[in-house]
Amino acid sequence: MIENLNNRERTHSCGALRKEHVGQRVTLMGWCARRRDFGPLTFIDLRDRDGITQIVINQENAAAASAKAKDVRGEYVLAAIGEVVLRDESARNPKLTTGDIEVQATEIAILNDARTLPFQLDASEDALAAEDLRLKYRYLDLRRPQLQSNLRLRHRLLLEINRYMDEQGFTQIETPNLIKSTPEGARDYIVPSRVQPGKFFALPQSPQILKQICMIAGLDKYYQIARCFRDEDLRADRQPEFTQLDVEMSFVEEEDVISLVDGLIAAVFGAAGVEVKTPIERLEYDDVVLRYGTDRPDRRIGMEISDLADAFAGSEFKVFSGAIESGGVVRGFKTTGEFPRKRFDELTEQAKGLGAKGLVWAVVEGDGWRSPIAKFLKPEEMQAAAAALGAQEGDTIFVVADDAKVAARVLGELRLAIGGEREGHDLFWVTDFPMFDWNEDEQRWDAMHHPFSAPTGDLDADPGTWRSRNYDLVMDGTEIAGGSIRINTPEVQRKVFDAIGLPEDEANARFGFLLEALRYGAPPHGGIAFGLDRIVALLAGRESIRDVIAFPKTSTGADPLTGAPAPVDQRQLRELGLRQDG
Ligand code: ASP
Repeated sequence: MIENLNNRERTHSCGALRKEHVGQRVTLMGWCARRRDFGPLTFIDLRDRDGITQIVINQENAAAASAKAKDVRGEYVLAAIGEVVLRDESARNPKLTTGDIEVQATEIAILNDARTLPFQLDASEDALAAEDLRLKYRYLDLRRPQLQSNLRLRHRLLLEINRYMDEQGFTQIETPNLIKSTPEGARDYIVPSRVQPGKFFALPQSPQILKQICMIAGLDKYYQIARCFRDEDLRADRQPEFTQLDVEMSFVEEEDVISLVDGLIAAVFGAAGVEVKTPIERLEYDDVVLRYGTDRPDRRIGMEISDLADAFAGSEFKVFSGAIESGGVVRGFKTTGEFPRKRFDELTEQAKGLGAKGLVWAVVEGDGWRSPIAKFLKPEEMQAAAAALGAQEGDTIFVVADDAKVAARVLGELRLAIGGEREGHDLFWVTDFPMFDWNEDEQRWDAMHHPFSAPTGDLDADPGTWRSRNYDLVMDGTEIAGGSIRINTPEVQRKVFDAIGLPEDEANARFGFLLEALRYGAPPHGGIAFGLDRIVALLAGRESIRDVIAFPKTSTGADPLTGAPAPVDQRQLRELGLRQDG
C-alpha cells in the first residue's frame, strides 16, 4: 500500500495555492492533518510547513484515489495530484490562506503511514498535551504550525543579525566548545579527556575569555552566534545550553558598544515587525533600583517606587521613623483601585517571605488613609506620603520600612505580583552598575557581572565603592543583553581578583593564559552578549524559550526525546579513567 515517489514531483507547497491557480494541475505532498468522510466525497486537509490545503476526492471520477483516501489516517504522508478548483462561496475558509480553493485529486499516493499519535496536534494552546510528552515526541510537536513559525522567525532574526554585523565590519569567529572554565557564575559542565586521563575540559559558559583573546589577537570586531553551557539549578525558563549573540570590539568605550547595539536592535526587531526608536533610553542602575526595586524591571506595569523619608522622618510611628534613623528606608508605590482583604493578607505573607518585617497597605480616603496603621499616623504625614506617591482618592498604597536592599527586593517583587496590563514592548539600558555584590554566605565580594569588566572609582578604596563599566539591556522585565568595557592590564585584573578573594596561584591556574596575554599589548576593548532564545521568544510572543528552541531540555534538564542524560557503560568509564561510586 505504501508507495515510492515514483518520479512524482511536488509542484507547490500546501500553503501556496490561490484563486489564480484555479484550473492548474498540481502535485502537493504533506501530512494528513484531518480526514472527513462523506461517502462518495472524502476531504483531506493536507499540511506541510507552509500551510494546509483541502484535498477533495470524488468517488465518481476518481474511484481508485477515493478507495485509497478511505484508508488514510491522521499524519499519513501523502502525495495528492489533481486540479485546483474554486470552492463554492459558502465553503470558502477565510482562516486558511488557501481557503478559496481546493484540489480535486485524481490520484492519491500514500507515501507512508503513521501510528495513532500520542497527542493531538491541532489542540488549542490551552489544551496542549503535557510538555514532557510533547518533548518526547518533539518531531510530532514540531509539526505544529506555531512551533514551525517560531523557528522560522528565529532563522530570519539570525539572518538579520548576520547581515547587520557584516555591514558594520564584524567577522564571525567560532570559538571552541572544549575549553577551560569561564567564570559566568554557574557550574561548569565538564568533559573528561580520554587521551589525557584525569584531565577535563569544561564546556564554555560563554566565549568571554576567548573573545577577549581575539581582541588581543588584533581581530578587532568579533561576533559569534555561540552556544553556551551553564550547569545551574534549573528555574522554570532556563536551559542548560542556550544561544548567545556574542560581540567584542577593540578601541571602544561604552558609547560605541551601546550605539552599535541600538542599531542592531532596531534592525533585528524591525525584521520581526517591531519598531524600536533609537537611541534606546539609558538609565543609571541606582535610579532604576530605587524606582523599580530591581535592575531589570518591567516598566509597562507602572507602579513606580518613591522614597517616603520626607513624609515620615519625624513620625511618631516608630516602624517608619526608626527605620530611617537606623539607616534604612521607607519606600512604597501606589496602584489604582482596591484589593479584597484576602489579597492584602497574601501580599503581606509574600513580603514576609521575601525578608520584610511587614507590609503596610493603605487605601487613600478623604484626607487620610484606611489602613491598620492609620491611627498611628498624622493626617499631614499620610497626605505628604500620598502626594509623594501621586496617589489619589481610592488608590491603594504599599509601603515597606526596611534596609534599602530588602525594601527594593520586596517592593520590586510586589509590583510583579500585582502585575497589570503589559502592552507593547519596553526597552532601556542600565548603566553605572556597582562592581561587586556582597556575598553574605561566603563573606566576600562577588563580581556583579564578571571579573573581567573594567572597574571605575578609587581602586585603593573599599571594593564596595567601585563601580563597573557595565551595561545591560532590559526588555519587558528581562535582561536581554549584558556587557562591559573590559580590563586590559594585568595590574587591574589582579586587583579585581584580589577583591573577590581569588588567590594569585588560583588565578594563575585558572586564567594564567589571559593574564599573560594581557601583557602583550591588549587593546582597550569591550563587548556584549545577547540571550538570543529570550529575544526570539519575546518577539514571537511566547512565554517560554522552549517554544523557540528546536530541541529544548525539560525544566529538570533532561531530553525526553533521546533519553539524555543517560548512564554510560563501565567500559566507556574505564577508557576515560573514571570510576563510578555506588
Ligand atoms: N560574557 C558575558 C555573559 O555571558 C557577556 C559579556 O560580558 O560580553 O554574560
